[in-house]
Amino acid sequence: MPERPRYAQVIVDVASANTDRVFTYRVPAGMALPPGTRVTVPFGRQTLEGVVLHLTDTPGIEESRVRDVIGTLEDYPAILPPLVELAKEISARSLCPLALSLRLMYPAQMRAGRVKVRTQTVARLAVPASHLPEAVAASTRSAKRRLLLNLLADGLPHPVAELKALVRDPLPALKALQEAGQVRLEEAEVYRSPYADPAVREPEPELTPGQREALGELLPAVREGRGSFLLHGVTGSGKTEVYIRAARECLALGRDVIVLVPEIVLTPQMVSWFRGRFGDAAAVLHSRLSAGERFDEWRRIRAGAARLVIGARSAVFAPVTDLGLVVVDEEHEPSYLSENNPRYDAREVALSRVRREGGVLLLASATPSILTFAKAQRGDFMLLEMLSRVNSRQLAQVSVVDMREELRLGNRGMFSRLLLEKLDACLTAGQQAMLFINRRGYAPSVMCRKCGEVLSCSQCDVKLTYHQAGRGLHCHYCGLVLPMPDVCPSCGSSYLRPVGAGTQKVEEELRKRYPGEEIVRMDLDTTSGKDAHRALLDRFRSGAARIMVGTQMIAKGLDFPQVTLVGAVLADVSLNLPDYRSEERTFQLLTQVAGRAGRAEMPGEVVIQTYRPEHFAIQAAARQDYRGFFNQEFARRRQRLYPPFTMMVRLLCESPREEQAGEVSAALYDRVAEALSARPGWKRRVLFYRRDESPIKRMMGQARAQVLLKLLEHPDSAEVLAFLKQLTEEPWPCRVHLEINPASLA
Ligand code: ADP
Ligand code: ZN
Ligand code: ZN
Repeated sequence: MPERPRYAQVIVDVASANTDRVFTYRVPAGMALPPGTRVTVPFGRQTLEGVVLHLTDTPGIEESRVRDVIGTLEDYPAILPPLVELAKEISARSLCPLALSLRLMYPAQMRAGRVKVRTQTVARLAVPASHLPEAVAASTRSAKRRLLLNLLADGLPHPVAELKALVRDPLPALKALQEAGQVRLEEAEVYRSPYADPAVREPEPELTPGQREALGELLPAVREGRGSFLLHGVTGSGKTEVYIRAARECLALGRDVIVLVPEIVLTPQMVSWFRGRFGDAAAVLHSRLSAGERFDEWRRIRAGAARLVIGARSAVFAPVTDLGLVVVDEEHEPSYLSENNPRYDAREVALSRVRREGGVLLLASATPSILTFAKAQRGDFMLLEMLSRVNSRQLAQVSVVDMREELRLGNRGMFSRLLLEKLDACLTAGQQAMLFINRRGYAPSVMCRKCGEVLSCSQCDVKLTYHQAGRGLHCHYCGLVLPMPDVCPSCGSSYLRPVGAGTQKVEEELRKRYPGEEIVRMDLDTTSGKDAHRALLDRFRSGAARIMVGTQMIAKGLDFPQVTLVGAVLADVSLNLPDYRSEERTFQLLTQVAGRAGRAEMPGEVVIQTYRPEHFAIQAAARQDYRGFFNQEFARRRQRLYPPFTMMVRLLCESPREEQAGEVSAALYDRVAEALSARPGWKRRVLFYRRDESPIKRMMGQARAQVLLKLLEHPDSAEVLAFLKQLTEEPWPCRVHLEINPASLA
């Protein structure tokens, strides 16, 4: 009987709206193409890569127009079926071509075959290990062969290169053994290992009552493969141990685990804890891996050799075959939102995956995001709480210093008397301190004392930050660096002065006060090298440096037992951002940074310096009172109609020409107005819509203008959103982006 013709429905790897559909190809006889397989196909006169979505018995189009699949890129489906489904869902939700969402599912380096699999020769026993004594006896003539057989007695593959270190010139002997049928030589893939330092293996601690209670809920859910949880655990409550135990349960069931962390280079301890407990079963995915390392880790996961994956946001797409648990550490971090096309929220993706694949989601934080905590209160997540620290250690003692009062008393410096007093005492006692200011550089702006001119970037409409090294003016948006001018470009006076403070200035002041004391500064400027983070963290961990200065980088995850003092040099930096989330962000940062103090036996102290000591976010952070903050912030959101009661939608126009961005935004505005007046049902869901300048009028040389809408969170709003999506996809003369609750409204 002739084989029935089979056809593959293929998405070609071209991210444009007119290729965003399946194309039909014939499957050549003998070629296996399960869904998710990457293939090469003819496309017009080109050869393109593509992904098989599904197979059909009939072509669906005229047979004569169907061409053959050329070949497969891997001999296995690179994208597992549930991940194909996930890609479809992400495309539907963010209205982007499926080709783009599919690219999330495998390393970019695999496209266009830019990385190669490395192989090496390995030797392994070809006879059952129980037969070994006879085999050894049979080759008594050669001591070298006997030694080799003994080295291979564990039955595992051993790279010949490694055997060379133990036996001189082993290859001829191995070949002889192969001929005798006792050893097999084969080519095996090499995985480039990204782990520089050995995993620490620490004894398993006795669980605290809080950990036991949380696990009492979690473990049965893991066994059942169903449930979503929010773990609210104060800083130092031992959340990591909960993740580890839950992960172990899941692995014991033969199922796989994904652990997401906000920024992996900042959580080296988490990685080493997991590697310590799970060894090579743990894979690490992060942005600083080389292309080869990333590809190798991906293949180790895809092949089932690594069943626990730790990584940043994109690790949520790791190709594990039987996902039983996803942990999202520090779930409140904005880095879980991807602003690139396709836009996605790793927490939502995780939820979608565990629902589809039958697993458990565990979100965790000391300061859960308002949206997540609200969902937990509504019952979407089961709330687990760990409100005391391990070994009943006290949370740090917090003092708030009113900087206006300092000024009134004649202190013009950036440090209050209280902070200096405590810093002196801390260093005298031989302990360590961390000083936090959420702004890098030396001074956030340069102002003319004569005419008031503030220097800003011509490309971006943001203030230039003064960096002391090289006396340069840096734009933190586009990276432009200009020399500091000698005279004011506006009035010609020589009174240009840096104003305000950033990490460099804090460091400089500390150096003046504590000459000879080593200071570690951690911000984007000091940590750009591949191993820069580790080197700086090591200086501090070893005690060589006793003061650490840093941005939000130092707020999360770090666990240094010798730190007894934390200072927030200027809490107001994040509070003054033009964003409805600035209160939330400030509370989170201050609470997290305060959590770095007093994590071991010695009690910790925190000093928060601010010009707004009465602000509720600062007050709540000082009390480390999450519930109090949540209740007040939630009430404020309801009253002001911010998310989760509403959603902010922005149509952002970007053009090199300011008039064009303005014109397009005006046209968009008119279309919105027209649509809303035609449909009273829609209009009821739209609280306001307005055309305005983006808070940053120019970015990277692009002029920006926007239409901002606030919609009620309501099922009917979906129709309005669909309309807006269509509207932005029309062929406008400049780029138009649709953003729903964007992470930043700048
Ligand atoms: P969190 O993430 O909640 O801030 P961590 O997971 O970093 O807290 O744990 C804080 C410290 O407590 C770590 O040094 C950890 O090793 C230790 N720890 C966690 N659980 C226990 C336990 N059951 N017994 C003793 N020490 C623990
Ligand atoms: Zn710029
Ligand atoms: Zn001037």
